[in-house]
Amino acid sequence: MPIRCEIVSQDRTVYEGDADIVILPGMAGEMGILPHHAPLLTTLKYGIVKVRSKGEEQIFTVAGGVAEVQPEIVTILADAAENVEEIDIARAQAARKHAEEALAKVKPEDVDTMLALEAALRRSNLRIEAAKRFRSGKKTYEE
Ligand code: ATP
Repeated sequence: MPIRCEIVSQDRTVYEGDADIVILPGMAGEMGILPHHAPLLTTLKYGIVKVRSKGEEQIFTVAGGVAEVQPEIVTILADAAENVEEIDIARAQAARKHAEEALAKVKPEDVDTMLALEAALRRSNLRIEAAKRFRSGKKTYEE
């Protein structure tokens, strides 16, 4: 029996389907979630979620969030998430450039703007790195 996996971001459902294992970027490191896992709730780091099913692997970026695990379903609520195959690298590079330029100009007392720009920089870096490293068409994994 597989485990159900749903990845939901603030503006859309990024993935829903069955998985043999879901690998999450938990705060204490990578966590592999198999079917019938004990219930748990964890916050997620900026990082990579791997959904493996029937010998194929799909890879997603998540810009932080939470995961709720139940024996039959993993629900990932992410601030932003994308399948690496759908990442627009040029858009992420433009977002990174904008964030870097704005950070160079932001006033130190404007903490909210600085934090928002730093978060935008981390999102864009994550997208660029993940697209470069993991995008390669169909992926397989060893059982
Ligand atoms: P941008 O400045 O390019 O909008 P952003 O980091 O501000 O980037 P978010 O607010 O994190 O964007 O995301 C808004 C929506 O756009 C989300 O659905 C997110 O998955 C999607 N998204 C953001 N950047 C990219 C990208 N480079 N490729 C594909 N989808 C993206």
